[in-house]
Amino acid sequence: MKQDNILFVIILAGLVLFIYLILKKNKMFKRVSKNFYWHELFRTNTGLNNDPLPEKEKYVNENLYQLVLHTLQPIRDILGRVKINSGFRSEAVNNKIGGASNSQHRKGQAVDIVPIDISVFKGFENIKNSNIPFDQLIYENHNGKQWVHVSYNKVNNRRNIMSANWNEDLGRMEYKNLV
Ligand SMILES: [Zn+2]
Repeated sequence: MKQDNILFVIILAGLVLFIYLILKKNKMFKRVSKNFYWHELFRTNTGLNNDPLPEKEKYVNENLYQLVLHTLQPIRDILGRVKINSGFRSEAVNNKIGGASNSQHRKGQAVDIVPIDISVFKGFENIKNSNIPFDQLIYENHNGKQWVHVSYNKVNNRRNIMSANWNEDLGRMEYKNLV
């Protein structure tokens, strides 16, 4: 009886180790930075495949890494916890949600975030008033939901600050330069 218990514990320990090694090997469960995991950057609620094309994978991952390193982690450091609603978008995901075809999300250069501990507007203001580099910073409004779109471009960061509001008549977001 006692031997059975020992055997059970050994099998269980082996199983836990096996699952741990699988998760560790999978890059999706690896950290990009102190507070972000790779899988958060590929999040989608469309249920569609959101993997980059094999020939674009290296390019997309490099862009995401630069975005997190230079922009997203520094933002996390000043705002506290943030939820990533959308990072990279495959063509299928981007089409489904009506994103622009040239969206920086397609290249892994943009994320949509929602601060958890402060309001979205306060988060937007704090990023705007910081010296964190970004290409575009957009305060987005759609059907009573707000989020912050922020992008990073390795070569030319424009520091473009805008608001975007859903226009029911036009059936699309309307962008306005704020600075
Ligand atoms: Zn966005």
